[in-house]
Amino acid sequence: MKTGRVTLVGAGPGDPGLLTLKGLRHLRRADVILYDRLASDALLRQARPDAELIAVGKSPGDPLGRQEEINDILVERAKRGLRVVRLKGGDPFVFGRGREEVNACAAAGVSCHVVPGISSALAAPASIGVSLTHRGAANAFVVITGRSSRSGGPPEYDWEALAKIDAVVILMGHASLADIAAKLISGGRAADTPAVSVESATTSCQRHVTGILANIAACVADAGLRNPIVTVVGEVARMARGEASHVEHPQRARRKPLVGRRIAVTRASSSSDELFRLLRLAGAETIACPLIRAVYPSEAGDADSALRRLRDFNWIAFTSMHGVEGFWRRLKWSGCDARSLAGLRIAAIGPATAAALHRRGLVADVTPPTFTGRDLARAILEAPHDRRPGSSARVLCPRGNLARTELESELRRAGAIAEPVEVYRTELIEPPAAAAAELARGVDAVVFCSPSAARQYATLGLSGREAILAALGPTTAAALTEAGLPCGLVPESADVRALVAALGERLRHEEALT
Ligand code: SAH
Repeated sequence: MKTGRVTLVGAGPGDPGLLTLKGLRHLRRADVILYDRLASDALLRQARPDAELIAVGKSPGDPLGRQEEINDILVERAKRGLRVVRLKGGDPFVFGRGREEVNACAAAGVSCHVVPGISSALAAPASIGVSLTHRGAANAFVVITGRSSRSGGPPEYDWEALAKIDAVVILMGHASLADIAAKLISGGRAADTPAVSVESATTSCQRHVTGILANIAACVADAGLRNPIVTVVGEVARMARGEASHVEHPQRARRKPLVGRRIAVTRASSSSDELFRLLRLAGAETIACPLIRAVYPSEAGDADSALRRLRDFNWIAFTSMHGVEGFWRRLKWSGCDARSLAGLRIAAIGPATAAALHRRGLVADVTPPTFTGRDLARAILEAPHDRRPGSSARVLCPRGNLARTELESELRRAGAIAEPVEVYRTELIEPPAAAAAELARGVDAVVFCSPSAARQYATLGLSGREAILAALGPTTAAALTEAGLPCGLVPESADVRALVAALGERLRHEEALT
């Protein structure tokens, strides 16, 4: 049996763009990914859809026994012949216990490699313009931890020695910041040495406070900075952008109305990149909580017989991105390509579906003004088609097994021919444990893009505390209501841009009220 291997991949400080190319390659190939609490959703979405994702959410205060458990999982999966990636925040070897994982693998005869990452110790100061070795301000820097496994507080450093180093970078120092500052001062460091603390560096929630060694802990507490933070002590901290002790970036907050908001999305993450991208652009922290999954048939079915009769149709109407993907798979499976569609007019229900077509080199002839089956039918019926006498629209409708039949029934009511063919199936699934835990921790909104996800949410009893339940369109909103859940938001037009804008508006108003 082939043996697997373990790769420790440094995930970087938070911004997914700060993962190395090599790390990304490993992530995309992995059979199993063990990730930390701080790992970004965007990175996890790089995983293969069938990869096993295991959250090993170490957080301050977790029993140390967790590390042995992680080691055991790494070794056990690798011995099963799997490619295992251990995704670790920042750099795996900077206060990351990475070497313990390497040792555990070595002891078990499992090969283990390390892909370094950008440590928050470097990225956090850089993100606010602080150069740790700025000429004239610092010739050296040291990185220390505020938490030792033995005492829970800072390790027994030689504080007098540390006090002499130009720049001191403190990781895991939120709880012990006052203690560390006092120890540096009694070690001989001037109480008025500039200091800066950065929260969630390189993410959309980044903020920082500046102060001096004597009051930096109080500044952090006053500003309500939360973990994770990096603190820099030394002349170099003067370089921190922004003079105020609490820099909130008001312009950025206006452009990014969802900064600091946690939004769960219940659709399959592989299909929802645009939605996730827009939410993150607006500053939100996104939580992928898929409740449905599209499954594409691997055997011939109705769609294949329709493909042999494409001449019978003058339109093909797509009502979802999965419909495009599923149809494309059948087309390829039948040994055909886009040329088979020559002469057919193409309709797409909305911009995301049209974009999926566009990626395959096809331009939709019609997209209705509002993205419903009824309006799609109207757009097809009103568009010029085959003008031969007595001819009517003959529409092939690739769809999922649970998709709505509104398009077909509207077309038929108008005397057109509509032939639905199933090109994918929607399966109801339980969300990954980590996503369910995030939901339970509390989110500001939960987004639903389909009635099946809404029903599954109700069936699983996932109701988040006080979260706004947002539906992409009126049908999904109705499904929420039927399932006994209050739908708190439906955008005027059923597209993801409108949804993200409406969420921004709503949450801004909520904030104004509290
Ligand atoms: N191996 C990691 C550090 C792990 S220890 C690295 O190289 O970055 C966890 C600590 O890292 C946190 O307590 C915090 O001090 C720091 N940290 C990690 N990501 C951070 C971020 N985005 N912003 C600020 N601090 C961060």
